Amino acid sequence: MIYEPKCKIDIETASSSRINEVDFDHLEFGKIFTDHMFECDYKDGIWQTPRIKKYEALTIDPSARVFHYGQAVFEGMKAYKDDNDDVWLFRPDENFRRINKSAKRLAIPEFPEEYFFEGMKTLLNLDSGWVKKGLGNSLYIRPFIIATEPAISAAPATEYKFLIICSPAKAYYSGEIRVLIAEKYSRAADGGTGFAKAAGNYAAQFYPTSLANNKGYQQIIWTDANSHEYLEEAGTMNVFFRIGDTLITAPTNDRILDGVTRKSIIQIAEDLGINCEVRPISVTEIKQAASEGQLKEIFGAGTAAVISPILGFQHADEVYEIGEMESSYGSILKEKLMAIQYNTGDDPHNWRYKV
Ligand SMILES: *Cc1c(COP(=O)(O)O)cnc(C)c1O
Repeated sequence: MIYEPKCKIDIETASSSRINEVDFDHLEFGKIFTDHMFECDYKDGIWQTPRIKKYEALTIDPSARVFHYGQAVFEGMKAYKDDNDDVWLFRPDENFRRINKSAKRLAIPEFPEEYFFEGMKTLLNLDSGWVKKGLGNSLYIRPFIIATEPAISAAPATEYKFLIICSPAKAYYSGEIRVLIAEKYSRAADGGTGFAKAAGNYAAQFYPTSLANNKGYQQIIWTDANSHEYLEEAGTMNVFFRIGDTLITAPTNDRILDGVTRKSIIQIAEDLGINCEVRPISVTEIKQAASEGQLKEIFGAGTAAVISPILGFQHADEVYEIGEMESSYGSILKEKLMAIQYNTGDDPHNWRYKV
């Protein structure tokens, strides 16, 4: 191991690596994990000495609160390898801040910054062979916290586990995406947990999304829970609309996840002189623009898929087809963003973080 952590981490390396069993050309997203994982327990009122050990199953009491009340939060980030074999993260300070924001909302104790960064760097150094070079290849990193205290009274736990697991990923292509705009179900409500990466937010989307899948739509664009008139975000992506030559995305609030990809795209658009408005955008406005031929692009933005074009949508019984244009804003912004992530282009805002 090359990296010496700046805080105490107990390290027990795996006796053998599974890397040679993996077909890196045919990876299914999120199914294969690297040789090691990072683990840290909270008990007696503090986060205990963290450890890195081989990736393996956990032993958790069936009465652990996470199984009963869903007290769990997570993050999603990626490591990228450049042509010199250096490994990079993209704005990891944002993910660190966000997991603690999510934790706070779920009454989970905040995780220390040093453990987060030193744990991640040590883990990525041990498993750096799993980060493959080449545009589109990455190592998906999943930090998460679960309530492990064995007790089923409905109250926040006094014991937790923070873990980081890593999964090699290829460029994410989910096929053509068309979406249903939500009219009945909601993802989040005012004063709720929509802004947090809380496990339960995702469980609650599966059923309405499966109904949309049955109608031939891959995702739902969620609308505000009160009027179902304002467009908010998709399953794990923020959404952007291009009307004429203006890009529009909803402002974040307590219902919307403040995506790192979203805020980076807003900045890159500004750098490129693309007009980007952050304001409420209504279903009526995009339907009108679509009818007039002015709705030129819709795309989703998030760490997993980077930028995914959305080719059409349905609202009420009306179906709109947008299609894909050449040199779209989506493709220009994606290229700029990936050049920063893969260390092939300038990084004017110092977003890259060397592991
Ligand atoms: C994670 C997530 C996003 C995208 O956030 P990034 O930081 O860009 O990965 C958007 N919406 C929801 C609901 C999410 O969970």
